[in-house]
Amino acid sequence: MQDTELYQQILGIGTPWEVSNVDLNMELGEIVVSVRHAQGTKFCCPQCDQKLSCYDHSPSRRWRHLDSCQFKTMLEASIPRVDCPEHGVKLVQVPWSSPNSRFTLMFEAFAIRLLKATQTIEGARTILRTGWEATWTILERAVERGQARKQSSPLPHIGIDEKSFKKGQNYITLIYDLDNSTVEAISEGHNKEAANECFSQLLPGQIETVEAIAMDMSSAFVNAAKSNIPLAETKIVHDRFYVMKLVNEAVDKVRKQENKRLRSEGDDTLTGTRYLFLKNYDNLKESSQQRLDALFSFKLETGKAWTYKEMLRDLWHHDTAKEAKEFFRWWYRKVIHTRLEPMKKVARTIKTRIDNVVSYCTFSGISNGVAEGINSKIQSIKRRVGGYRNRQNYKTAIFFYCGGLDLDP
Ligand SMILES: [Zn+2]
Repeated sequence: MQDTELYQQILGIGTPWEVSNVDLNMELGEIVVSVRHAQGTKFCCPQCDQKLSCYDHSPSRRWRHLDSCQFKTMLEASIPRVDCPEHGVKLVQVPWSSPNSRFTLMFEAFAIRLLKATQTIEGARTILRTGWEATWTILERAVERGQARKQSSPLPHIGIDEKSFKKGQNYITLIYDLDNSTVEAISEGHNKEAANECFSQLLPGQIETVEAIAMDMSSAFVNAAKSNIPLAETKIVHDRFYVMKLVNEAVDKVRKQENKRLRSEGDDTLTGTRYLFLKNYDNLKESSQQRLDALFSFKLETGKAWTYKEMLRDLWHHDTAKEAKEFFRWWYRKVIHTRLEPMKKVARTIKTRIDNVVSYCTFSGISNGVAEGINSKIQSIKRRVGGYRNRQNYKTAIFFYCGGLDLDP
């Protein structure tokens, strides 16, 4: 078999295209495969598909293809242009590459698999021997392609959430599909406008299919849901993840205040104990459990706050909203009669939104685990975010890794 014929088969190139020459440059470690088309071939206008004769050719161009053994392999061709009566002189579409790409489709498909496997631009580009920008462009184009292909499928259970790009600043707002664990929309900021922008990114018809929406208790998200989703008030669920996060923050405030007071009296009992009070007791190591147990003998305010926090976990163990609400009333009365101001504040916040907390009983499809799962996935993208250079890239990377998109060329 001739090398031209061999490459024709490897590249999957067929009529009207054929491999005319294969050139191995040992010095550069490069193979250049030249491709040309048969004389007299008619090509389609890329805009209207009308079949037209070849008008002229662009200067010869190269596309990076998958390596042949250790050799970088380039495909080389002059792209024909057609003169469409309607659209003017246009470059025709070649079967081995996307318009404006410097890579063949097979190379891009391989790069996408590597980007997924290595989880970083740096990791993929080291194996591919490509530049950072070029590798990023492949990822970006894959996301564009995936989003263009997206269909308006029903979204019965969604979540809306915020994430910070850098610690405590530069927020983004996201909408999750809780049934498929995917990110459906992302916008800048975390106010009502950001949430509105997120809802507007959903495809036509999807808003109407929402049956339940999980979110924290911030008024920004509640108000945005109300102005975007029909009958939102009956669909909002402030799930355990968000409620317990607030309660944990309140416990930490109590601890900080008490620690400050104790230290001013020369007592550092509470110093370095933050994580003991924040974690779920069952998730602590035995030694940490013992340390926490010992702290309780001091009759600390923090210990009381922690106990109320742990008690509140039972709110999510009821079968009906009515029972859950009764439990909350009991818990609320206990907390409100203490002097634990941060706990009282959070108890009042929950009370105003209690109907949308106990609504978890109605919506079994709203599961905590999912939001937490997507959260940790996004968190790990953020950890590699130095490699993504800016916030726009961060968003694109989230869609690439969590968008559930069809990315293949
Ligand atoms: Zn045309």
